[in-house]
Amino acid sequence: MQEIKFIEAKNLKEKPDMKNLGFGNYYTDYMFVMDYTEGKGWHDARIEPYGPLMMEPASMVLHYGQATFEGLKAYYGVDGDIRLFRPEKNMERLNESNKRLCIPELDVDFAIEGIKKLVKIEKDWIPTEPGTSLYIRPFVIATDVHVGVHPSHTYKFIVILSPVGAYYKEGINPVKIYVEDDFVRAVKGGLGYAKTAANYAASLKSQVIAEEKGYTQVLWLDGINRKYIEEVGTMNVMFVIDGEVVTPELNGSILPGITRMSTIELLKDAGYKVTERRVSIEEVFEAAENGKLDEAFGTGTAAVISPIGVLEWEGKKITINDGKIGQISQKVYDTITGIQSGAVEDKFGWITKA
Ligand SMILES: *Cc1c(COP(=O)(O)O)cnc(C)c1O
Repeated sequence: MQEIKFIEAKNLKEKPDMKNLGFGNYYTDYMFVMDYTEGKGWHDARIEPYGPLMMEPASMVLHYGQATFEGLKAYYGVDGDIRLFRPEKNMERLNESNKRLCIPELDVDFAIEGIKKLVKIEKDWIPTEPGTSLYIRPFVIATDVHVGVHPSHTYKFIVILSPVGAYYKEGINPVKIYVEDDFVRAVKGGLGYAKTAANYAASLKSQVIAEEKGYTQVLWLDGINRKYIEEVGTMNVMFVIDGEVVTPELNGSILPGITRMSTIELLKDAGYKVTERRVSIEEVFEAAENGKLDEAFGTGTAAVISPIGVLEWEGKKITINDGKIGQISQKVYDTITGIQSGAVEDKFGWITKA
């Protein structure tokens, strides 16, 4: 394995108030960087001071969006050890995204080594208040200086760290979600299953409109029929209908979430019936009208579990579980965050210590 060089910072930053972090507002002293050159592979792995990147305006990522990313978190366990939640899944998914965008793959183990080393150097930046963590953002960008459409020959893999509080200001309280029936996020054959900047660029317009209407995020429907549920802005989505947990199946346009995967695994293990299939928005509204929609929640690294209290679709509004968090949502939240902190036994082997 290649060596990771350490370039020391001249000055360290003052730490923010760890009780008032918000999400994505502060970045630590160091970042991990590695370069790719065609014919040479990934090289020059290093941990260097966090700071501006020097790029030419003609850098390809700025024009053609060849950019992939990941999101995971580091936590201080109850035993004082630093824990990562299934980081190999993130790095494997990054490679899947890379393949879709013609970006060279990374060595999963080496990328995790780099992340662990960076997190250990920045251990004083890992907040310890309940609900806080150190958010890890690995990403890859195309760096060829060239205007003209084709895959770049050079790239940078960078990992930055941000101490964060709750993703939604509502915390674990239910959010209001607007069902988007006009704009679409992704279509089969497109980029939907890849974690790439372009998917978020496509989502901003309806996010803004939903926020103006007082909603937190949008729920996307499929791009062809505007009928089947895909996912929420930054989360996968699950419904509890008549005691059964139902979630849209991975169809190529949905992002395969690691929290989604973990939720399915642990609910099945706990004896719940969990079904991955096509779910139409009509079915969900019908279940609500018939008193059979017990719960709805989003799953994602940022918020872990985010109960959905209100859904609006074509002018109709439903309130789910009286706008309160449901039993299953709470159980999944407690179990996953418990495993992350070490308070709950890691019987699935999901934790990697840094
Ligand atoms: C990252 C992401 C998710 C959630 O994935 P996790 O691995 O659970 O964090 C869901 N949807 C989209 C569009 C995402 O980018």
